[in-house]
Amino acid sequence: MCDVLSRLESSGVSRRNILASFGLGAAAVALTACADTSPEKPSASRSFGPAAAEGYRTRLVLLGTSGGPPYWPGGQREGISSALVVGDRYYLIDAGHGVMGQLRKAKLGPNYDKDLDGPLDVLAGIFLTHLHSDHVVDLNNILSEGLYNGLQSVKKIPIWGPGNRGQLPPLFGSGTPPTPVSPGNPTPGTREMTDLIVQAYATDFNDRLFDNRKPHPNQLWEAFDVPVPSEFTKSPNTDPCPEMSPFTFYEDDHVRVSATLVNHAPVFPALAYRFDTDDGSVVFSGDTGKTPNLIQLAKGADVLVHEVIDKIWPQSLFPEPRTDAQEGLYQHLIQAHTLIEDVGPIAQEAGVKSLVLSHLVPGNRPDSVWEACGKGFDGQLIIGHDLDVIGVGSAK
Ligand SMILES: [Zn+2]
Repeated sequence: MCDVLSRLESSGVSRRNILASFGLGAAAVALTACADTSPEKPSASRSFGPAAAEGYRTRLVLLGTSGGPPYWPGGQREGISSALVVGDRYYLIDAGHGVMGQLRKAKLGPNYDKDLDGPLDVLAGIFLTHLHSDHVVDLNNILSEGLYNGLQSVKKIPIWGPGNRGQLPPLFGSGTPPTPVSPGNPTPGTREMTDLIVQAYATDFNDRLFDNRKPHPNQLWEAFDVPVPSEFTKSPNTDPCPEMSPFTFYEDDHVRVSATLVNHAPVFPALAYRFDTDDGSVVFSGDTGKTPNLIQLAKGADVLVHEVIDKIWPQSLFPEPRTDAQEGLYQHLIQAHTLIEDVGPIAQEAGVKSLVLSHLVPGNRPDSVWEACGKGFDGQLIIGHDLDVIGVGSAK
């Protein structure tokens, strides 16, 4: 059907007119058929379904692999989020849009198919890399609707993420600065943000507490700001990514989690995480431009989950000359993210075994665009797709 449309279009007939001539029903069928044959679908030869990781105690599950706030037209990727399964539990890294549905589809935990008892019953922690909306927008979903998807009070879930920025970012370009949102506290960190979510949803939480006799939120989770050493947090506007060594801030009997600052200015703090397990190590870059901090954090890891942006997109979006507002966003897109040509050399320098691409911007491009990320990298390149599962270490 799409071929037919393309041929008709190339002969000068607009797609709207073609579809109108088919009537509404036919148009819907045509659009569905196009979506089904989208070039961004993984090729049939890929094999990262659950079966590929069978027998692995530690598994990386890509829940959502798209980056940025846009719901990319024609895209099939959910918002950025990953799960690291270690034995009988899993840890969530970022909570982009769609995460709850993806957790069900990923069949995590023994109760993933029970209406009310899973899959959050074996969630052991949430780790947010930074507080851009595309990384946290469904945290409220996990906390509020989680009550009916397995979130229980067996053990409080820790929610970790960056702390309060401490000051507003500078105004890009010239002019009078706008009035900030929430001037009394314009840059809340993870702990404050989580408390504010609970306040915002208090009507619902109290209904569940008094009527459904559900546990109080205080019994279910506790949010913490990752304690970045204070000597590195002094100058978010002038030195947002000082060179530093990774530091460990969380440990339980399954994982040890370390962090470092990465370069996502003016967002601050922006963090990358390394999870060390008995089976191997997995590093999540978060959103970042090139920085030696990430390479140090990822040294010798088994898997590096790295973000990437195709710079052709911002270039075509904002051709020169640009206004101040356009220039600000353009510079953020190409400096605070990692370009296709830089990803492979970063993975090579870190000496990781596998490079997994996630947080793809734009989130609706075919795999052929991302294949160039393997240039300069001797290890395995995996162009991530939603619900891919990658075994870590060796199968038992
Ligand atoms: Zn971001």
